[in-house]
Amino acid sequence: MSRFWSPIVHSLTPYVAGEQPRIHGLIKLNTNENPYGPSPRTLAAIKAAVDDTLRLYPDPTGLALRQVIADSHGLSVDEVFVGNGSDEVLAHCFQALLNHDQPLLFPDISYSFYPTYCRLYGIDFRTIPLDAAMQVQVADYKGPCGAIILPNPNAPTGIALPLAEIETLLRDHPDQVVVIDEAYVDFGAESAIPLVKTYPNLLVIHTFSKSRSLAGLRVGFAVGQRPLIEAMERVKDSFNSYPLDRLALAGAVAAWTDQDWFETQRQRIIASRETLTVALQRLGFEVLPSAANFLFARHPDRAGKELAAALREKAILIRHFQKDRIGDFLRITVGTEAECARLVTALGEVLG
Ligand code: PMP
Repeated sequence: MSRFWSPIVHSLTPYVAGEQPRIHGLIKLNTNENPYGPSPRTLAAIKAAVDDTLRLYPDPTGLALRQVIADSHGLSVDEVFVGNGSDEVLAHCFQALLNHDQPLLFPDISYSFYPTYCRLYGIDFRTIPLDAAMQVQVADYKGPCGAIILPNPNAPTGIALPLAEIETLLRDHPDQVVVIDEAYVDFGAESAIPLVKTYPNLLVIHTFSKSRSLAGLRVGFAVGQRPLIEAMERVKDSFNSYPLDRLALAGAVAAWTDQDWFETQRQRIIASRETLTVALQRLGFEVLPSAANFLFARHPDRAGKELAAALREKAILIRHFQKDRIGDFLRITVGTEAECARLVTALGEVLG
């Protein structure tokens, strides 16, 4: 606490990101990063961008990246917004589109950055409980609200919502923005991007951090009809003219167009997820059906906190949230085949 702070700072509850410790031999399954590196073509493009032009500012509009994204979805560049990681895209979206007289709705168990943004921007919000099976029930979102935001698949549960349900949500709320945060969609859910043409109230947000393996480059984007994107641009241009640097733009364009690499790694992670699910079930875990690159699982006999601590002793890091309803769950990122095998062995030892 400091007398120098602006008043709002006292009331903030900052998001706490998963640890990035430097422990030798650590198996890091706590922040849903991709266990396989970025594609060789992506790395080559980033290296090629390291030259004298770094003295110049990058393109403030990120046009080259917006263009490749727009082309692949049959959209116009004006319908694509890019930012420094999807967290920044989300932040601008909260400020530009989600602050209304009625509360913003999102699930009680969801991405924990959402309430943080609400507090930062003074947005009134209400959480809607997931059902007993930890699923989103769109009928629970009926009634007055200012806007809605949902991750699909949800995080940290990993459970996907069918596109038809998202369409119901869009139809139930024609006068409210519905944001679908598709950070993990490439691992098994259906993207809502094809609905953008039909629904002026839909904004879909993506990241390059997971399925494109570029968490370290910080690139995210949003797609929606022009009025929504224009609102985000107005906020962005009142905040930072150059959110994506030259290396990020070069790397992201290359990653987006390297379809073979994307497909191969994505399928490999999906296959490992299925193998890991079965292995955890054999150890007695209840594993929620995941469409993401992580699993959410609990053991009937052991507290989540205790299991997380025991794994840490064995230099395996997973994520545990000390929170109502999910305190006994472990969120486990799907690693390489070898990392998953080490995790299963370690859990077997811990469980005796
Ligand atoms: N949305 C969800 C649901 C996430 O889990 C994450 C990753 N923590 C993000 C958005 C943000 O990812 P990034 O800023 O790396 O794009």
